[in-house]
Amino acid sequence: MTSGRTHHPALRTPLLLLVALTLTLSGTTGCSLLTDDGDSDDLEVRARYLMSQTPLVDGHNDLPWQIRKRADGDVTKLDLRQSQPELHTDIPRLRAGGLGAQFWSVFIPTSISGTEAVQTTLEQIDVVHQMARHYPDVFRIALTAKDIERAHERGLIASLIGMEGGHSINGSLQVLRMFYEAGARYMTLTHSKNTPWADSCTDEPKVGGLSPFGEKVVREMNRIGMLVDLSHVSADTMRDALRVSRAPIIFSHSSARAITDHVRDVPDDVLKILSRTDGIVMVTFVPSFVNEEVRIYGELRQAERDRLRTMHPADEQTVTSKLQSWTDQNPRPQATLSDVADHIDHINEVAGIEHIGIGSDFDGISSVPVGLEDVSRFKDLVIELLERGYSNHDVRLILGGNLLRVMKKVERVSSMMRTRP
Ligand SMILES: [Zn+2]
Repeated sequence: MTSGRTHHPALRTPLLLLVALTLTLSGTTGCSLLTDDGDSDDLEVRARYLMSQTPLVDGHNDLPWQIRKRADGDVTKLDLRQSQPELHTDIPRLRAGGLGAQFWSVFIPTSISGTEAVQTTLEQIDVVHQMARHYPDVFRIALTAKDIERAHERGLIASLIGMEGGHSINGSLQVLRMFYEAGARYMTLTHSKNTPWADSCTDEPKVGGLSPFGEKVVREMNRIGMLVDLSHVSADTMRDALRVSRAPIIFSHSSARAITDHVRDVPDDVLKILSRTDGIVMVTFVPSFVNEEVRIYGELRQAERDRLRTMHPADEQTVTSKLQSWTDQNPRPQATLSDVADHIDHINEVAGIEHIGIGSDFDGISSVPVGLEDVSRFKDLVIELLERGYSNHDVRLILGGNLLRVMKKVERVSSMMRTRP
């Protein structure tokens, strides 16, 4: 759990503090003077209270890529204080949703490789630093679990940097170490394509998991204190990394494969290993990863696109218009907030409450579940969990308590390995 510091407004005056202390010491609870928002029947009040106690940590948001695409990576050209209806993220909605900490993804596509991948990733890291400089009253760079807690206590959104794909390091441990120095605190071992040293779940398996160099990457990440992220990797890469890693690992934006049979989701046997090794799955909102009908629909639509391309080679215009009429006849089913909560239920059953987090993938997805349309809706997920009977303690673990525990352990393993390699 996180530190037990409390910010209850009723405790601000010394008199009430004294009353509270007396009651605590005498073991009395339920005093009307000190009605705790955590016991409120109004679930929104309770959700807000819990989010004030423990930061809601989101594992993945692609806003930096949107800033690159829409504003050439110049934060001053896209005013996040204003409503940005084309995005899932802006400051008013971040505040409305109650977000406490964000791993900003410094994603770059796998089509970028070599030294260009290193440069582009650095430019993406710069975007996150620019955000913190440009909005110092909103974002603060966080490099440690303690930094997250401190930023949250000050009402700032702790801003962490997550690299999405091992292609960013161009096969160099030196580059990996320098990304850590620049602030990166997790790296997803692959994105949608294999790296030479790790298989992706959406590519043909090549090395059968991690290569010997891939194992070295994981060990070096352990040593320097960077979280190993297994979203996007093949199931064999997951198992290899879990075997090799000396610190707990994360899935920054994945859900449960037993509920939605998508390769991006985590199979039950891996959930069980995760439970033994203290890692977490930060449950994602990607519609085709959380709803089986949406997943199957996506496959059918892709098959139709492939068929049309075979029928009309080199005529992308016809393919697009025919695919549009197919889509008109076959409307896309919708995922919902409730689907996302079902994944949380499942991971709770298989791995346990201590192995769950939240990893939206906002601004990296083109469609969203009903009820989780943008960053202002995080609190609605919290309300849903309370409605489903999760206790305050459980909800705080899911919000950020689990991630903070994992991050602290990663930091401990690192300091141990740095002093006694
Ligand atoms: Zn992703």
